[in-house]
Amino acid sequence: MNSNLPPLREVIDQYGLRAKKSLGQNFLTDLNLTGKIARSAGNIENSVIYEVGPGPGALTRGLLENGAAHVVAVEMDSRCIDALSDISSAYNGRLTVHEGDALSVNEQQLIGDTNGRDIHVVANLPYNVGTALLVKWMTETEWKPWFKSLTLMFQKEVGERIIAKPKTKAYGRLSVLCQYRAKAKILFDIPRQAFIPPPKVTSCIVQIIPHEEPLAAPKQQTLERVVSAAFNQRRKMLRASLKGLGMDPVPILTSTGIKETARAEELSVEDFCRLALEYEK
Ligand code: SAM
Repeated sequence: MNSNLPPLREVIDQYGLRAKKSLGQNFLTDLNLTGKIARSAGNIENSVIYEVGPGPGALTRGLLENGAAHVVAVEMDSRCIDALSDISSAYNGRLTVHEGDALSVNEQQLIGDTNGRDIHVVANLPYNVGTALLVKWMTETEWKPWFKSLTLMFQKEVGERIIAKPKTKAYGRLSVLCQYRAKAKILFDIPRQAFIPPPKVTSCIVQIIPHEEPLAAPKQQTLERVVSAAFNQRRKMLRASLKGLGMDPVPILTSTGIKETARAEELSVEDFCRLALEYEK
């Protein structure tokens, strides 16, 4: 551990970082835990890490301590910037922090030239924008995307939606959007008590590794339209819910061999891809 840096609780007091609910702030302070999260991202040595919301820097310190060549971070809360600059100094400038909103940045521009190093995204995401960020990354136009993996903290319930299989309550738009282009799994849970202040629910670390190629190849936007129409009315049969696409859905259901009386949650990710390809024609 870098002994030039004080414990996280001292940093939080020193810089007056009282957690703001509006920014989804729940801070980690246990460097053993953040080291474990950093190592769960795989072998990050010689990689560039993109981190959203470093806050006082507990996870950032774990990433640097575990050998990340460089961490590029985006933080919206100006109060955290000085605390993060202490970390950058202690780790010989291997941390670059940008003040801004992760939802609107262009990550590749921000990260710049990596000298051929892989980029991994590792973040304890703010709960209020976590899902929006995940959708932003999973709907990149270019696939393979700019990142090799996403290792992200979510509320457990969101993690379960990401990895859900058909015919379960958690299966929905997020499951299909993630699993059509990537392999997703929950690595481990993080208890509420690990945070200051403790959130209401358990969290978990989800890892998402992009497939080299999507399962089938409908356009991302087409797949999203079909999946949204189907799950917007998830209790209805597909022959009714898919009318939201602005056409009679029965012909595309017939030609893909999907029962018109089926409901969205009965379709596999592959079924959705076939349906989207047919709708595209
Ligand atoms: N990484 C720190 C940790 O593990 O203790 C803090 C995690 S806290 C759950 C989320 C962090 O994201 C906060 O520092 C918050 O200020 C920041 N944040 C919230 N919304 C953001 C946004 N749109 N863009 C960038 N950072 C954001």
